[in-house]
Amino acid sequence: MSAPMLGFVSVPQAQPEKRSAGDRCGDFDEIYNDFADGEAQEQANRCSQCGVPFCSINCPLGNNIPDWLMLAANDRLEEAYAVSAQTNSFPEICGRICPQDRLCEGNCVIEKGFDSVTIGAIERYITDTAFENGWVKPATPRKESGRSVGIVGAGPAGLAAAERLRATGHEVHVYDRHDRVGGLLIYGIPGFKLEKEIVARRHALLEEQGIRFHLGQGIGSGEGELAFEELRARHDAVLIAVGVYKSRDIGGPGSGLEGIIPALTYLTASNRRSLGDVVTDPLLDASGKDVVVIGGGDTAMDCVRTAIRQGAKSVKCLYRRDKANMPGSAREVKNAEEEGVEFVWLAAPEGFLGEGSVTSVRARRMKLGLPDATGRQSIEPEEDGLFTVKADLVIKALGFDPEPLPEMWKTDDLATSRWGTLVVRHETFETSLPGVFAAGDIVRGASLVVWAIRDGRDAAAQIDQWLEKHASAKAGARMAAE
Ligand code: FAD
Ligand code: SF4
Ligand code: SF4
Repeated sequence: MSAPMLGFVSVPQAQPEKRSAGDRCGDFDEIYNDFADGEAQEQANRCSQCGVPFCSINCPLGNNIPDWLMLAANDRLEEAYAVSAQTNSFPEICGRICPQDRLCEGNCVIEKGFDSVTIGAIERYITDTAFENGWVKPATPRKESGRSVGIVGAGPAGLAAAERLRATGHEVHVYDRHDRVGGLLIYGIPGFKLEKEIVARRHALLEEQGIRFHLGQGIGSGEGELAFEELRARHDAVLIAVGVYKSRDIGGPGSGLEGIIPALTYLTASNRRSLGDVVTDPLLDASGKDVVVIGGGDTAMDCVRTAIRQGAKSVKCLYRRDKANMPGSAREVKNAEEEGVEFVWLAAPEGFLGEGSVTSVRARRMKLGLPDATGRQSIEPEEDGLFTVKADLVIKALGFDPEPLPEMWKTDDLATSRWGTLVVRHETFETSLPGVFAAGDIVRGASLVVWAIRDGRDAAAQIDQWLEKHASAKAGARMAAE
């Protein structure tokens, strides 16, 4: 007999058990355990199978959530995985790190009064179970197309596109300046949100599918890098999925002191240690230090929680607005508070003190003013609101902008917006250069993994169509030359 669904009237919402703060602060492992036996099925059964599923409408991938919840509730997990994998290239990753409270779960209709269905955790459970049972297979093509695509960037946008393009039969080469596959999934996002083996497992599957990775191979005009024009000559089409990596900076007196570092430098070093690499620079280790992180987004949350795990003496997060106006996910703020992070709301840094190395941050108390045109409250400095916070490590987590690609790649005709992101034709993902496409953060600006996957998949479909129309002549000439 099939599960009746509508279980939300009698079964309360439950997430998989969260490890205690004391336990999880001692390592970089994920903080959620797996669902207990039968619990995922019971939780999936809470879905009311809405005729108009707002969960799906608010999932950037348009995942067919009610269908895979119904299948999971009936313990038909292999089918649930098949449905889930139709729209999502990496469901186990989204299930772990999507800000569900702002997307699918935040729009679940039973949330009003009953607490939402735990969609993310169930998506993770379905895919983890599929991996354990060998149901996840590489999407190898039925026949080769004879066409070749070069992808710059092995982050979620590049990988999602690579997977789709290879499945269609194209030869796919992915170039990345890093030595590992995953982009920010591997060197940005810490293991306590997404364990590294989860990314490595996907990498292995993509290799098995026949995608060729060229790691440690930057594209650009620097030493050892491959020139962009050479890349274009090698392939029938090119996808640029390089993300955004220029850290926003903070000025003011003392901003050049030692011990003030960008968030991604800090997180990359920590992730490298978790992966077994040797990182010796003591500046990149919070152990025994008073740490101040500046910023209120998810990157700031990752830094404070990393510093706690490294054994910092104290960890404070300075944010210029209040908790209600923080851009970071509410769930991550709660996790950070549980782990011992102290938040200093309505505090904006004005300078740094110290001789040679930083010893404290000078900050000013702020107050919220009237809402602006977008409804967001403005902030104003408090008179006489200056105060000092002790710090021997300051981490700047103020966001990211694109690197100046046309300048770095010597491609003046690659059009960019005034923010430096690549301009693409909305429907086709094609840049100002014919046969060159772009997707992910480099087009959107700093965004989310789930959007990068969506863009990568959509761009792949457009590249496939473009190759159908344009690439025959080029592919023929290349094959003749080989
Ligand atoms: P990236 O993931 O940045 O990948 C780009 C790749 O291109 C990199 O591997 C880079 O090495 C490579 N590359 C760049 N330039 C070159 C070049 N010239 N030659 C060769 N290779 C190059 N999103 C969420 O949804 N949930 C989260 O919890 C979350 N946490 C985050 C935490 C941090 C610390 C950060 C920084 C971001 C977080 N994000 C999160 C955002 C998310 O990681 C990004 O939106 C997403 O990774 C963008 O994917 P992408 O493929 O466009 O770029
Ligand atoms: Fe929710 Fe993200 Fe999964 Fe979509 S991909 S269902 S937004 S967790
Ligand atoms: Fe189920 Fe909630 Fe989606 Fe409705 S909105 S289909 S209850 S998960």
